[in-house]
Amino acid sequence: MLRKLTRSFRKATDEDYSEKQNQTQENMADLTNRYPDNVFGKYYVDSQCIDCDLCRETAPSNFKRNDDGGHSFVYKQPETPEEEEQCREAKEGCPVEAIGDDGKAAEVAAQASEVGQG
Ligand code: SF4
Repeated sequence: MLRKLTRSFRKATDEDYSEKQNQTQENMADLTNRYPDNVFGKYYVDSQCIDCDLCRETAPSNFKRNDDGGHSFVYKQPETPEEEEQCREAKEGCPVEAIGDDGKAAEVAAQASEVGQG
């Protein structure tokens, strides 16, 4: 009986963990959905942005609003430790996880493409 209960508890826990993992992966910012008005570099905002203003309040030197689109974007990558900290804070505080910090990959890809064309 105890063994059966332990097994069903473990199964429920594993399913719960797996579901949370999937939700986290679904919510994470996605480089392929990055708004084109982000400047190249580490941080970017993707299409999940709900225009809540938190990032613009937290890191005003780096995030701006696209008034036509109704969303935020990164207009300047952090250049000081203070700005880096503010961007990190904005990323962690974003309610829909629309801020990514792996945008460097887009920059590298763009540079590689330019080199290839040259
Ligand atoms: S904190 Fe997130 S949802 Fe809010 S405006 Fe910034 S990117 Fe958009």
